[in-house]
Amino acid sequence: MTQAALLARSSDYVTPPWGDLEQAPFINACVEIDTPLDPHALLFVLQKIEAKFGRDRAKELRWGPRTLDLDLIAYDDVSIQKPELTLPHPRLFERAFVLVPLAEISPDRAIGGRSVASALAGLSTDGIERLTDD
Ligand code: ATP
Ligand code: CA
Ligand code: CA
Repeated sequence: MTQAALLARSSDYVTPPWGDLEQAPFINACVEIDTPLDPHALLFVLQKIEAKFGRDRAKELRWGPRTLDLDLIAYDDVSIQKPELTLPHPRLFERAFVLVPLAEISPDRAIGGRSVASALAGLSTDGIERLTDD
C-alpha cells in the first residue's frame, strides 16, 4: 500500500463539459497530497485507480465522457516536458474547472510563476457550481 497523506481537499464542483462533444457535466475537485512517490510513479498509481473505476482509454474519444480522470496539475516546482508526463499540466491555465477548485485549497500557490488566484481572475467561471453537503 502506497503511503500518501491528504493535505487538502476542495469541494466538488459541477462544471460544463470541455471540448466539442455534447455530453453531461463533469464533477471536478482538487486534492493536495504529500507522497514519497516521484511524479512518474504517482501518475502510474493514478492510472491504476482510473482503471479500477472502469476507465478504458481505448474506448474513449478525446475529452469525451469518462468514468474518472486523475491528472497531475503540479508537483513541487518540477518541470517535465514529455508526452507521457508534462508538469505543470499544460492546459491548467486555460481551465476554470481546474483553477476554481485549486484556488479553494491553494489560492496563493505559484505555478510556473503565476498565482492560481490571479490566473483564475482572467477566466470565465460561468456554469461552475460548488456542490454543498446539504
Ligand atoms: P487533458 O490532458 O487535456 O486533461 P485527458 O486528461 O482527457 O486530457 P488522458 O487521456 O487522461 O487525457 O491522458 C492522456 C495522456 O496524458 C496520459 O496517457 C498521460 O500519460 C499523459 N499526461 C501528460 N501529462 C500529464 C499530467 N500532468 N497528468 C496526467 N496525465 C498526463
Ligand atoms: Ca484531464
Ligand atoms: Ca488525464
